Amino acid sequence: MKAMVLNKLCNLEENDTPLELTNLPDPIPGEKEILVKVSACGVCHTELDEIEGRTPPPHLPIVLGHQVVGRVEETGGRAGTHKLGDRVGIGWIYSACGKCSFCLEGNENLCNDFKATGRDINGGYAQYITVLEDFAYPIPDTFSDLEAAPLLCAGAIGYRSLRLTKLKDGQNLGLTGFGASAHLVLKMAKHKYPNTKVFVFARSEKERVFAKELGAVWTGNTEEEAPEKLHCIIDTTPVWKPIVEALRNLLPDGRLVINAIRKEDVDKEYLTQLDYSTHLWMEKEIKTVANVSRRDVSEFLQLAAEIPIKPEVQEYTLEQANEALVELKTRNIRGAKVLRID
Ligand SMILES: [Zn+2]
Ligand SMILES: [Zn+2]
Repeated sequence: MKAMVLNKLCNLEENDTPLELTNLPDPIPGEKEILVKVSACGVCHTELDEIEGRTPPPHLPIVLGHQVVGRVEETGGRAGTHKLGDRVGIGWIYSACGKCSFCLEGNENLCNDFKATGRDINGGYAQYITVLEDFAYPIPDTFSDLEAAPLLCAGAIGYRSLRLTKLKDGQNLGLTGFGASAHLVLKMAKHKYPNTKVFVFARSEKERVFAKELGAVWTGNTEEEAPEKLHCIIDTTPVWKPIVEALRNLLPDGRLVINAIRKEDVDKEYLTQLDYSTHLWMEKEIKTVANVSRRDVSEFLQLAAEIPIKPEVQEYTLEQANEALVELKTRNIRGAKVLRID
């Protein structure tokens, strides 16, 4: 099969063709696995982190890609959930042990044996992929293959962050930072919790206007105080100031959910402004979001079909994967980037 393979970590500014078109043997499904003929694979920021070594794959060469859509081409001897020809999606979670306490409670995203698609195991920048049948999800008919691919990552993680807030309908939700993931969360929140008011903190005027268009009742700059105290806030920024400011806006028993893989050190001294009585007292909680569970991916796909959430897509061929990555890095962003693979 054709695959775009990462052989060596590098900086994309020095090497704009980190992936090499390679002929690999077709993968063979194990007993409980399916072989999927890939038709679309989304291109994600995490791939930049893998190539540039911030989230390095444990072994090379590796095929990247964790927003995979395709059709079942073959099933292993003991696999029976999906039928030949069924359309399925595969997300960031490739597998987990299935036996530890986290796995048994449905939090397999926290499993010590968590394996990521396209980092720990070959991913979707290829014509074929194998996966355990329980880690592939039916794709609702509402979406084309290309539209479904980008939903398998940011949307599912956004869904998990909303779930972790434990928000109830009618309670106040805050969002600090308003990029791609937060605007999906706003759409989900409006749909799932019609009586909830959403307050958005964002630095850029453009983002604040966009948040209002999508139904936020109030928008302000990061350090502004919302007109009402909030039951929970989701932070999607890469820095620290929004953490401190968000805590100030929480009600007693309020919860801050941080949906960021890492925080930069640029403004870390802002944390010294943390005042126990203003920011933490009264049983306020802080929680982070790590990876996704299967439940998040499949529930989000259903929700996205109901709302509906249809991503705007910019299409590339498999061979153009390097181009798509460089354009993502240089923030040449017009919709979600997706490889069409045949
Ligand atoms: Zn991703
Ligand atoms: Zn486990």
